Amino acid sequence: MEVYEKKTRLLPSSGPHTEGIRNYGAIDALHELRTQGFELEPFGVVRRTIRFSPKFRNVLHGPAYYLFMRGREDYTVDQMLYARAKQNGVKFHFGRTHDPLNADIVATGPPRDQFNILGAGYTFTEEGSHLEPDTVYALLDNGTAPGGYLVITPGIRFHSVYSVSWRELRFEKLLAMTEAAFEIPWIRAILGTSRWVSKINGRAYFVRDPIESAERRGSLLVGEAGGFQDAIAGFGFRYAVLTGALAARAIMDGQDYRGLLKGKFGDEFQRASDFRGWLNRATNEDFDKLVASMGSEITLEEYLRQRGSRAL
Ligand SMILES: Cc1cc2nc3c(=O)[nH]c(=O)nc-3n(C[C@H](O)[C@H](O)[C@H](O)COP(=O)(O)OP(=O)(O)OC[C@H]3O[C@@H](n4cnc5c(N)ncnc54)[C@H](O)[C@@H]3O)c2cc1C
Repeated sequence: MEVYEKKTRLLPSSGPHTEGIRNYGAIDALHELRTQGFELEPFGVVRRTIRFSPKFRNVLHGPAYYLFMRGREDYTVDQMLYARAKQNGVKFHFGRTHDPLNADIVATGPPRDQFNILGAGYTFTEEGSHLEPDTVYALLDNGTAPGGYLVITPGIRFHSVYSVSWRELRFEKLLAMTEAAFEIPWIRAILGTSRWVSKINGRAYFVRDPIESAERRGSLLVGEAGGFQDAIAGFGFRYAVLTGALAARAIMDGQDYRGLLKGKFGDEFQRASDFRGWLNRATNEDFDKLVASMGSEITLEEYLRQRGSRAL
């Protein structure tokens, strides 16, 4: 197997950061990935998710996210998967742009001129900050992340703080809105006296029915190249892994890729897109009502029972 990567070395396009695998499904999210051959262990588990809207706050208790690092260090998903693939005989060609029309599997990420989600923010040192290793914070506020949320996630040696927006797709503008939020007292308290490490500048791409367009002239589209991305909150990691595994299986076993995708995902992309429609129109009052409806504390089970496929 040959892999072509246009960057000269392995690095996430948005810069190093923490990623969470959302554990909201009927089966455990790590178990699901393991069944498809993804066996890496997370470096942490989030047991407290603290959500803010402009006026309300909720604490969700339970293992809501598994944490992985993206970046250059040996413990990142990027480097661990790379090392494993090399061990298994995969040949890598760095600094080589490949014609996507001439590949069995296309995993080229969000199309450069078609992205519809933007992330902007920073990584910051663990030193000087006040972030517990099992806690993530999210802020739903259109003044900080239009149509999206600001998130603070713990990492190894450095943490991440960034806004993800569906409505503000200009990086400098979104970064300025994110920076303005650093003056909010509870965010200021978490940042403490830590220092900035690097910028996060990431794009993402979702479509309503990625299964429909998952094959292009014999090439199988996986991950965000095919718009396999979570329209609700931008959790694309799971889709990148699962679609990659299903595409490989389709080729090796001579199975129908779109059939495999339909069997795995059903109508989850359409349901996510429907809720995205609501989120795009949501005002800060709507975000207040959403967070207030969860009360001050809630367990993961209660939350999922209450919100179903509209869980954020
Ligand atoms: C800031 C940020 C935070 C995120 N946080 C989370 C999170 O917490 N949880 C979660 O589930 N998801 C998260 N995501 C989303 C997740 O990272 C992506 O959905 C996932 O990495 C997409 O993987 P991919 O393989 O489709 O694309 P990519 O990771 O973008 O990989 C595509 C690769 O293809 C290369 N390439 C492009 N064109 C060519 C070509 N013609 N020839 C050769 N190579 C080419 C690119 O250089 C790139 O390396 C986040 C994304 C960002 C940007």
